[in-house]
Parts: sequence; structure tokens; C-alpha cells
Amino acid sequence: MSVSRCNPLISIRNLAKTYTQRRAIGGGRFAVDAFRGVDLDVAEGSTLAIVGESGAGKSTLVRCLALLEKPDAGEIFFGGANLLALGRKQLFPVRRQIQLIFQDPASALNPGMSAAEIVEEPLAIQREGTPAGRRRRAIELLEQVGLSAGSAGKRPLDFSGGQRQRLAIARALALRPKLLIFDEALSSLDLATRDSIVALLDRLRAEYGLTFVHVLHDLRLASEIATDAAVLFEGRIVERAPAAQMFARPEHPYTRSLLSALKSLRPAREGSRVESAELVEALP
Ligand code: ADP
Repeated sequence: MSVSRCNPLISIRNLAKTYTQRRAIGGGRFAVDAFRGVDLDVAEGSTLAIVGESGAGKSTLVRCLALLEKPDAGEIFFGGANLLALGRKQLFPVRRQIQLIFQDPASALNPGMSAAEIVEEPLAIQREGTPAGRRRRAIELLEQVGLSAGSAGKRPLDFSGGQRQRLAIARALALRPKLLIFDEALSSLDLATRDSIVALLDRLRAEYGLTFVHVLHDLRLASEIATDAAVLFEGRIVERAPAAQMFARPEHPYTRSLLSALKSLRPAREGSRVESAELVEALP
């Protein structure tokens, strides 16, 4: 099912980001376009998968969406405003509404803090509630993501990889965001753990009215979890469509070549949105 015709929660127009890199040999610097000319609408309540090979610009694009990096050109519309035209102060209340979750929560979560401290920290930064109220909310969030209240005193490294990702989700939810962005956050998990986190995210989406963006290199996973998909190739979006349509009938040669790599992968599991036969039929 595609929800791309619903109101966009976030829209980007003509977005571009260029880095300057140092030459490894001979000195000097050169410019690298992480991405350019990117237009994208993310429908409210949808799950958009941004797929593409390493170096395509996916991480930079979502870091810009999450306001962790500033693009060089373009516009990001959210809640009726172009965020790139806002000052620091005006952006402060917006930042809480867009949260980014990384692939490796072990490096993103402070190893010296307890689970409860990690979850309540964003509330403290935003000066929400009292310390006791924030602690109660942190415990509630830990339970909502499937971690027990008893784990509140544990530190990130006391948890398994999947549990750490749940902890990162609890922290991201603390400020009741509208948009959760996952940068390959499911990629390093084993299948059973990944499935349980996908199910958790489905529940949380309904409960919190969330919209998701997933950066993924695994097209099989994208076909299973996304309502919409965008393919990024060398910093440009070359195809954008409802996920089921894109994976069954890819239009761009690059999307076709990405899908052909799936031929050698495991068969799709029961309940996938796009079955493997359908995917293989669609290959060039
Ligand atoms: P992806 O997430 O698809 O692997 P990235 O967004 O990480 O792609 O990178 C896109 C391009 O931008 C690459 O050429 C990469 O080398 C370059 N790049 C990314 N981050 C930086 C940075 N901090 N400094 C310099 N170049 C960067």
C-alpha cells in the first residue's frame, strides 16, 4: 500500500551538499558532491526507504534532514516552514520532532550513562518536567520498547545489540517526534531480532503517529518494510515510487541492477510485501 498521495510531512527541494576532500597523493583539495538537485516528499504516516550503494549520499542526505548538517543549497519544508531559513532559536523546537537513529547504537549512546539517564537526557535538555517526572517517563518508555523497568540502571554495553537499538528508539521517542530516521539501524541485527524490532516500530507508529525514513542498502528488507522507496545513485534520486511498484516493476536501469543482486539472496519470507517470484520476474 502506498500513502504517497497523503500530505507530505517533510518535503525537500533542490537540496545539495558538497564536501571538500584532500587528495591522498600530491596534496590539494577537490570537491565531492554528496548529493545534488534532490527533491523528495515524505508522506505523513509512510515508511520511505532510501536505497543505494555505499557512497551514494544516503547518510549525508538524512543527516541534513535531521538538521545535523547544513546543506549548501535547497529547501527543507516541515510544518509549513523552510527549516533552512530559520535561525538557531527558531530551530530549537523543530529539532525534537525529527530524530535520527544510527546503525551502531553502541557508539551513539554514552557508555557511562544508565539506560534511564540516556532516555531522560533529551527531556532534561528541553527542560521538560521535573527530575522525578522525567525518570517515570524514561521507565515507561523503556517498557514500551520491550526493555524491563529493571534494566533502567544498566549501561549500554550490558545490553545485546537488539536491546541497545530498542534503547536508542526509547531515547528518540522521549520528545514525541513526528519523524524517525533510521540510518541502516536494522542492518547489523540478526533476522529474528530485526523482525521483532520491525514489529515494535509498527506498533509505535500507530501509537505515536510516526513517519519513518529508513536508509537501507538491503533491498529485500526495503521491500518488506517500506510503503515508498527512493533510489539514490551518485548523489541523485533516479527513481521514486510506491515500494511495491518499484520492486515489482523497476523503471530505471540502476534500480534494475540493484534488484538483480537479489537473485542470489535468500528467498523472501512469508508475509513480505513483495514475494521473491515477483521480484525475480521483474528483473531485466
Ligand atoms: P552513503 O551513506 O550512501 O554511503 P555518504 O553520504 O556517506 O554515502 O557519502 C556520500 C559522499 O560524500 C561520498 O563520496 C563520501 O566520501 C562523501 N562524504 C560524506 N561525508 C563526508 C565528510 N564528512 N567529509 C568529506 N566527504 C564526505
